[in-house]
Amino acid sequence: MTTKRPQGHLLVIEDHRDIAVTICEALETAGYDVDYAANGVAGLALATAHDFDTIVLDVGLPRIDGLDVCRRIRAQAGAQTPVLFLTARDTLQDKLAGFDAGGDDYLVKPFALEELEARVGVLVRRYRGALPRGVLSVGPLSIDLQTHRLARDGVEIRLSPVGMKLMALLMTRAPALVTRADMEREIWGDRPPDSDALRSHLYSLRKAVDKPFERALIRTIAGVGYRLADD
Ligand code: CA
Repeated sequence: MTTKRPQGHLLVIEDHRDIAVTICEALETAGYDVDYAANGVAGLALATAHDFDTIVLDVGLPRIDGLDVCRRIRAQAGAQTPVLFLTARDTLQDKLAGFDAGGDDYLVKPFALEELEARVGVLVRRYRGALPRGVLSVGPLSIDLQTHRLARDGVEIRLSPVGMKLMALLMTRAPALVTRADMEREIWGDRPPDSDALRSHLYSLRKAVDKPFERALIRTIAGVGYRLADD
C-alpha cells in the first residue's frame, strides 16, 4: 500500500452520529486526515490542542453550541483555522450569526457531499496558501512554517497551536528580543486576556523545548520579553 500525503488535517464536530460518519468517511476518501468530536466540549479541546487546516462545525450541538465553540476557538488560541458551519436552518439571521461568531463559510443541511468537499477544499487551500512558507533554523531548532513541525536536534517537538505561534515568532526574530506585548498581539490580537496567560504558555513552551535538553535556548529578558539564543 502506498502512503499518500494527506490533503490536510480536518476536525469534524457533529453530534448526529450518522451524519458525522457520512461526512468523515467522505472527507477521508477525499484524502484528508479527519479527527472527530461528538460535542462542543470535546471539539473545543481538540481544536485548541492541534493545528487543523479546517474545522467542520455543526451549529446545533449539546452543551456548548457551534457558534460558541467557534467564538472560543478564536478567543483562546486566536486560531485563524477556517471554520465551516453546518446548520439545519437557512435564514439570513443564522448565516449572519455564523459569520459573526468567526465562521468562514456556511452549509445548510441536507447538502451534497460533493459540495462539502468543494467548500472544505477552498478553505484548506486558502489557509495553507496564506501561511508563511519555508524552514527556519536557529541553532539546534528547526521549524517548518507551513506544516508547523518543530524539531530540536532532529527530534520532533509537539506544541499547542499557541506554543507553535510563539516559537515561530521567536525563531523569525532570533537572536533579537520579542517583547511580551508582541507575543500577546500575535496570540490574541488586540484583545489580550486580563490574566497572565502568556506566562503559562511560556512555561509550557520551555517544558517542551528546553527541559528535555542540556541547555536552555529560551532566555527571559526580565520585565521586557524573551529571545532565543544558542550561546
Ligand atoms: Ca446537531
